[in-house]
Amino acid sequence: MKKKFEIRNFAVLVATSLLLFSCGQSSNKQHSSVDSTKCDSVSHKKVATVTQTKESQTSITPQKALEMLKEGNFRFTSNQVLKRDFKSQVHQTAEGQFPFAFVISCMDSRTSAVHVFDQGIGDIFEVRIAGNFSDDTEILGSMEYATQVAGAKLIVVMGHTHCGAAKGAADNVKLGNLSQLLTKLKPAVDASTNVKGEHNSHNSEYVDAIAHNNVINSIKAIKEKSKVVKELIANGKVLVVGAMYNLETGKVEFLETK
Ligand SMILES: [Zn+2]
Repeated sequence: MKKKFEIRNFAVLVATSLLLFSCGQSSNKQHSSVDSTKCDSVSHKKVATVTQTKESQTSITPQKALEMLKEGNFRFTSNQVLKRDFKSQVHQTAEGQFPFAFVISCMDSRTSAVHVFDQGIGDIFEVRIAGNFSDDTEILGSMEYATQVAGAKLIVVMGHTHCGAAKGAADNVKLGNLSQLLTKLKPAVDASTNVKGEHNSHNSEYVDAIAHNNVINSIKAIKEKSKVVKELIANGKVLVVGAMYNLETGKVEFLETK
C-alpha cells in the first residue's frame, strides 16, 4: 500500500516538474524580457497578462525595445509564442495606448510584424505598404506621431525575401498605379547592379538585394526628411533600424545601425 502511495507521489512530482519545465523552457534566459507573464495550466505555455502602460513604456530604452522585438522573433521561430488573453488586453487598452515600437513592413500577407515579433494588443504601431516605402509624407507623419506624441522608442523598417514589389521593380512591371509605386524602388534597383546572374525576378539573390537596398534607402530618407525623428535620434530617445524578414525561416535579421 505504502509503495503504491510512493509511486503515485513520484508520478505527481514528475508531472509537476514537466509542467514547470514546459513554461520554464519558454523563459530561456537570453530571451526572457517579458516578465508580465504567468503559466497556463492547460497549455503549459506562458501567458501575457498585462499590456504596455505609460510607466512601462517610459522605462523601455530604444535598445531595450530592440531586444524585446528580437526576443519576440525568437519565440516566433522557436514555436514558443505567448498565449494571450486578448479580451483582457482589449479591456486594458481601451483608455489609451503606449506602444514601444513602430514597424513599417510590406503588405505581404506573410510579414505581419505583430505575428513575427510575437506582440499583443497595444504593443507596437504597424504600417504596411507594398515595398515598405517610408518616405511618403503620410508615413513620415505617422512615424512622428508614434514617436514624438505617443512615445514609441524604436522605428523598424522591415523588408523581406522574395518580395513581390522588388520582383516587379526587377522586371520593370507597368500596371496602373502600381507603376508609380514601383518607380520608388528604382534607386534600390540601381544599387543592386553588382549582383551576379540575370537581373530579373528569376534571380532571388538580385530580388533580395533590391529589397535590402530599399530598406537602407528608406532609413536614409527617414533621417533626411523627418526633422522630428532626426532630433529624437540625436537626443537618444529613438533608434531607427532596418531589418529583413526571411520567408523560409520566419527569422528577422536586423541590419547594422550607424
Ligand atoms: Zn513584399
